[in-house]
Amino acid sequence: MAGAGRFAPSPTGPLHIGSLYTALASFLDARAHGLAWRLRLDDLDQPRNDPAALDSILRTLEAHGLHWDGAVQRQSEHLERYAAALATLHMTGSVFFCTCSRKQLRGHSIYPGRCRHRRKSIAEAAVRVRVDEAVCEFTDLAQGQQRFPLGETTGDFVVKRRDGPFAYQLATAVDDGDADIVRVLRGRDLLGNTPRQLFLMRLLGQKAPAYAHIPVLLNPAKEKWSKQTQAPAIDDRKPSANLRTSLALLGLSPPELDLEGLIRWAVAHWGLRRIGHRDRVFAIR
Ligand SMILES: [Zn+2]
Repeated sequence: MAGAGRFAPSPTGPLHIGSLYTALASFLDARAHGLAWRLRLDDLDQPRNDPAALDSILRTLEAHGLHWDGAVQRQSEHLERYAAALATLHMTGSVFFCTCSRKQLRGHSIYPGRCRHRRKSIAEAAVRVRVDEAVCEFTDLAQGQQRFPLGETTGDFVVKRRDGPFAYQLATAVDDGDADIVRVLRGRDLLGNTPRQLFLMRLLGQKAPAYAHIPVLLNPAKEKWSKQTQAPAIDDRKPSANLRTSLALLGLSPPELDLEGLIRWAVAHWGLRRIGHRDRVFAIR
C-alpha cells in the first residue's frame, strides 16, 4: 500500500462518541482510497496521559472492527526524530531562541519578535520558528479553500517549549512525514493547527498530505463532545449500534448487516460530500 491515513488520539481517556466518529471517518476515508490506516498516540503531554487509556482505546477500535496497520506509534518514542528536525531548522536559520517571560508577552496576541536575533543556543529558552511573510494556502477537502497569512494569524510559533517538550505542531509534522501520511482526516476544531504543520513540513522539505477537517459533534449545550464535557465512554459491548450511530452522523444509512459487512458497506459508500461542513449537535440518551 502506498501512503496512509491515520488516527492520532491523545491517550487521556477512553474513546467517546466524538472520537469514535472521527476514528471511523479516517478509517473509512483511508480504506476507500486504498490506503493503510495508522494508529498513533499523541502522548507528548505526559502529565495528561492515562496509562489505562491506551488499552481502552485499542480495545474499543478492535471491538468495532477498526483494525490498524503496522505497530501502534507513540510520539513519546520519536524524540530523536523531533530533535533531528529541530537541528535541520537551526541549520537553515528558521528558528531562534526565545527567552521572553509570560509577563513580557502579555497583551500580545501575536509574538512581537523580540528575540528573533537569538540564533545561538540558550539554556532555559523556548525555540520559535520565524514565519516572516509566509502565507499558507491549501484546499481543505471538507472546508474548501483556506488562506492563512502566518504573520497575522499565528506569528513566530513555539516548536520546543522552554521546559523541554517538543511542541505538538513539530511532532505531528515530522510524524506525518515519516509515516507517509497522504490524507489527514480530523475534526474541524483542529483546522487552525494545519497552517503551522504545513509551514514546518515545507521548511523540512516534506510533501504535504491532503486534509479534510470534518464537522465536530457537539453536545446539546453546543460544546464539543470530549472528556472535558463529560462524554461517556463508548460501550464496547454494542459495536454495531455504535457504528450505526456514527455512520448516520457521517451521512450514511446502511442496511441490516453484521459488523464486518457494515464496515465493508461503509467503505464502498464513503464520501466526504455526505458529511457537509457544519458541526452537528448530538444528544446521548
Ligand atoms: Zn522572545
